[in-house]
Amino acid sequence: MQTLSHDKKAFLDLLKKRGIRNKAVIHAMREVPREAFVGLDLAEFAYDDAPLPIEEGQTISQPYIVALMTEALRLEPDHVVLEVGTGSGYGAAILSRIAKQVYSVERHKSLAHQARTRLQKLNYTNVEVICGDGSLGWPEQAPYDAIVVTAGSPEPPESLIKQLRVGGRLVIPAGRTLTNQTLMRITRTGVEQVKVEELAAVRFVPLVGKEGWDELEETIRPALKRVQIRKPEPVSELIEKEATHIPSIETVDLTGLLERVGDARLVLLGEATHGTAEFYEMRARITKELIQKKGFNFMAVEADWPDAAQIDHFIRGTRQEPTDETTFNRFPTWMWANRQVLELVKWLRNYNRSLPAQEQGFGFFGLDLYSLYSSINRVIRYLEDVDKDTAKLARWRYGCLTPWQSEPTAYGISGLTGKDRDCEREVVEMLHTLMKKRLDYAARDGRRFLDAVSNARLVKNAEEYYRLMYLSSVKSWNLRDQHMFETLRHLLEFHGDDSKAIIWAHNSHVGNAQATEMGSRGEINIGSQCREHFSEQAYIIGFGTHEGTVAAASDWGKPMEIKSILPSHPDSYERLCHDAGLNAFLLPLRHGNRKLVQELKKPRLQRAIGVIYRPETELVSHYYDACLPNQFDEYIWFDKTRAVDALGPESGIGNPETFPFGL
Ligand code: SAM
Repeated sequence: MQTLSHDKKAFLDLLKKRGIRNKAVIHAMREVPREAFVGLDLAEFAYDDAPLPIEEGQTISQPYIVALMTEALRLEPDHVVLEVGTGSGYGAAILSRIAKQVYSVERHKSLAHQARTRLQKLNYTNVEVICGDGSLGWPEQAPYDAIVVTAGSPEPPESLIKQLRVGGRLVIPAGRTLTNQTLMRITRTGVEQVKVEELAAVRFVPLVGKEGWDELEETIRPALKRVQIRKPEPVSELIEKEATHIPSIETVDLTGLLERVGDARLVLLGEATHGTAEFYEMRARITKELIQKKGFNFMAVEADWPDAAQIDHFIRGTRQEPTDETTFNRFPTWMWANRQVLELVKWLRNYNRSLPAQEQGFGFFGLDLYSLYSSINRVIRYLEDVDKDTAKLARWRYGCLTPWQSEPTAYGISGLTGKDRDCEREVVEMLHTLMKKRLDYAARDGRRFLDAVSNARLVKNAEEYYRLMYLSSVKSWNLRDQHMFETLRHLLEFHGDDSKAIIWAHNSHVGNAQATEMGSRGEINIGSQCREHFSEQAYIIGFGTHEGTVAAASDWGKPMEIKSILPSHPDSYERLCHDAGLNAFLLPLRHGNRKLVQELKKPRLQRAIGVIYRPETELVSHYYDACLPNQFDEYIWFDKTRAVDALGPESGIGNPETFPFGL
């Protein structure tokens, strides 16, 4: 058995950690020496999980993505595979260790020649490489059991689908931007039928050919980039001139911002990460001004309804529902259980206390839908108080979801296997039952009814979300943001025609999705729905940073870490702002300088860090194409930022059980 270097062992461990399970794939990744497929100068990086440059301006793909794609092909030892995009030959070598025969097509003659020579040297005799336009496949060797395309195509080429045998699989990155794609698996289920599955968001060099991108489009982009690198960006100088400098968050004069907000009914405040202190502090400062100077009535945030309801009770000094659940105890706790939020909560409580007794006070609500079981419990508990018979009915109906209580995501998987029937009817009927009795229930206590019905609506939408999450990432994203917008509309209705709301959520939820590549994938978000329904009455503010530290995890459910944010990408909006040379500023876009806004309308990359940050694959994992002035009405910049002060168990300080009540 081959002895493994430390690098290679760590590399294989990482692949397994990231979810690669197929033994044949792991074995192939272990066998093939990646260092033999890159230049000598890059050999030391061969076992980093990153793409590396090869000749002709191309790349050898990131190993994790090679493994993911190979696994998705579902190869058997007797299979014949076509690879489009030979590049270095590494991917073909991996395939050749699993399948019987590999055919590979490369567009660049020099790469095809070099890969062929390498593969022969390594004695991989079951691979043939030709030079040609692989977007048309290699019809002479068809049909194939599987086809993998290692370059991004605007759409899956028809020719490739036709060269699959029935039952065969095409794995391809496809999407209508040159830099970002969705990795898809297309299974030919019949002569004229296919099944399409979305596997991941990815970033590949373009597939250039008759059924891919035009050669022209490929050459324009790098040429533009070269020009940009040589010339200093005049846009940054304009930003510097037009921006309002923020000397400190506490002292900055927000009169101009409040004037620009005007009589907007909604102010949406974004964030470029879920773990940056300055974003929370600045949003808190703006929120206080909007409450005091413009009479905003409530805030609605990217948190679950039952958790936010605890804060609402606390700041308004109302009776809490008895609960055995702790607040903000689910991953990612630091998003709300942090010192910055705590300080705002204390301020809101004091503010509400200062109001005359008959006033409702400022409210705090959650828009998200990850609290399926807490919400079920709250509906039942409410009904037990007001209508015991209906409570029994609710127990029985919601019982349908009990088997997935500890792992709601497994509910979606059970639907896929067709083993269990779904619970759609039960959750929809339960909401209808509550709505039918609303006059009766709401007459006793309107606020408690709002809480119960919002939880019942959450259960209905979460059931659908979990049911669809494995079928389509676009549909499940849209369901989540539709739920958030629907909740916001109900809150506005509850608070009356003149009510005004402040929304706190990530840039990717509040920035108009139509102005980003999300929109071209068919995704909507709170921002795009607010634009559609409230037009200029919604004022959307985005936030950004160049570098610093951030609270984030490496994977879903993993512990929070304080991570360093890499300096922003040269082709990003962030880099333009950084080059303006100011520490922090407000930049009006809706009411901004026309020349600057025109310049900023040229699409660029924008960084989005959520609760997970993966600097190792930052470009692929965290950047997307956007058009800033169409996305936001204003942009707030902090060049160097620091992580939020978490109060949760991760930080070792504070007591999550008592948050926010153990002040
Ligand atoms: N599988 C490769 C490896 O392991 O090194 C990585 C390939 S690289 C990400 C994509 C390759 O696709 C490039 O070498 C590019 O020249 C090639 N390519 C782009 N369009 C093509 C086309 N129409 N036909 C064949 N190859 C193409």
